[in-house]
Amino acid sequence: MTATARLPRTLRNPYRVPLPAVISFSGGRTSGFMLKKIVDAYGGRLPDSVAVIFANTGIEREETLQFVDVCGREWGVDIVWLEYLWDAPHRTRVVDFATASRKGEPYAALIDRKGFVPNVKLRACSSFLKRDRIESYARHWLGLKRWHSVIGLRADEQRRVLRMRAMNCGSRTGARAVLPLADAGVREADVLDWWKRQPFDLGIPSYAGNCDLCYLKGRAKLIRLIRADPSRADWWIEQEARVANRTAPDGRACESMRRFRLAETYAELKAAALAHRDLFDDAAASSGESAESASFDCHCTD
Ligand code: SF4
Repeated sequence: MTATARLPRTLRNPYRVPLPAVISFSGGRTSGFMLKKIVDAYGGRLPDSVAVIFANTGIEREETLQFVDVCGREWGVDIVWLEYLWDAPHRTRVVDFATASRKGEPYAALIDRKGFVPNVKLRACSSFLKRDRIESYARHWLGLKRWHSVIGLRADEQRRVLRMRAMNCGSRTGARAVLPLADAGVREADVLDWWKRQPFDLGIPSYAGNCDLCYLKGRAKLIRLIRADPSRADWWIEQEARVANRTAPDGRACESMRRFRLAETYAELKAAALAHRDLFDDAAASSGESAESASFDCHCTD
């Protein structure tokens, strides 16, 4: 047992994460903050038994990719970039900033393979494109059987924190979740304050991070993002069109296999975004960057 492990929980530095560790870096401000705190906690250089992984879905904003790249270079961290690829060993392709997909290819390939689009009930994208790729790398590239999976969930995301901790009790994978931000009591305001004092930043609102029009973002945010750049909706519309005739195994029409958002298609959402400006929508979008309302209840974090 190490000296750190013997300390009472309240006296431990939560950023001295237990080893071996695999840090999931989503390319957002919160996980960027967490990464830097961990680097600092280890004196400016991560131990060899810590890996940092960014799992790219291909439909992330260019600003996110640049942010991941800059964080790695500025902080001297080797960030491993992974993508889903069916034909690659363990379905996992190692890429980098230059070779990363930028047209949603890994995500579209998953939809091709599955024959349906993910939705709020079946979040296959988060598990296949992110969680499984990270676990695959830990197991097959790093040769780990058990490791600590470091995830950037904050103290103001209690529902997700509790769920993640509960999942650990029955974990059948080798990964055990570690949540240093939640342990340190870090809230969203702390993260945003800290980034205001840094020499670089993400460059987009936090709600624009992760997949650009993720179906788990609130409708007001999606409307706002589409109004800012209507062409962003086209990839999502195209994916729904590709599975538009999909039926359940018994031949029934099955809308939940054809739509990311059950309430409306992305074509309808785009039409609504362009048809009228609703002041309530804009106000909700601009005020809704905080806490649970902006959070995704899945493996994707800010
Ligand atoms: S950000 Fe949204 S769309 Fe992208 S992988 Fe996560 S849940 Fe799926």
